[in-house]
Order: sequence, then structure tokens, then C-alpha cells
Amino acid sequence: MNADRWRTATDRWTGDLADYRRMLVNHEVGHLLGRHHPPDPQCPAPGQPAPVMAQQSTELHGCLPNPWPLPEELEAAARHDEPLAPPYER
Ligand SMILES: [Zn+2]
Repeated sequence: MNADRWRTATDRWTGDLADYRRMLVNHEVGHLLGRHHPPDPQCPAPGQPAPVMAQQSTELHGCLPNPWPLPEELEAAARHDEPLAPPYER
């Protein structure tokens, strides 16, 4: 996340700015919860909503822009099967 993207989204994003901002926050919170980018292809089904942990700022790969976690992403996060992000180191 950075200030330029927050202000204007990216030219790859095809949704509106409010949804882009929602996606950014949900994506970064996902990282804080230990979630990672999905393996390639990050868009598992073109024409369907992208996983919120896909790198939607740079490429949608045929998926629809999506600011919210998919049901399977919520289930995976709820299992806590990934360690939380490591602590900040100075
Ligand atoms: Zn990311």
C-alpha cells in the first residue's frame, strides 16, 4: 500500500476507487494475519471475483476486481494454519 495507489488506484484495477481502497485494506490485513498471495494462477477462474489476497493492483488475470475475502479465504484465515506476521524488527 502506498499514498499514490490510495489516491488513484492503479491502471490495472477495473473497479471503482472505494472498492480499490477496501481491497487494499483487506489485502494488507490478510498479510498481518499471516495470509500470502495465492499460487499461480492467482485468478483461479476468469470471470469470477479475484481472491482478495491476489495481487489485484498489478494484474487481475481475467478475474473481476474484488475487495472482500472469498469464502474459502475466510475459512483458511479462521483455521489459523499460518503463523501471524513476524514482529517488526528495527
Ligand atoms: Zn500482498
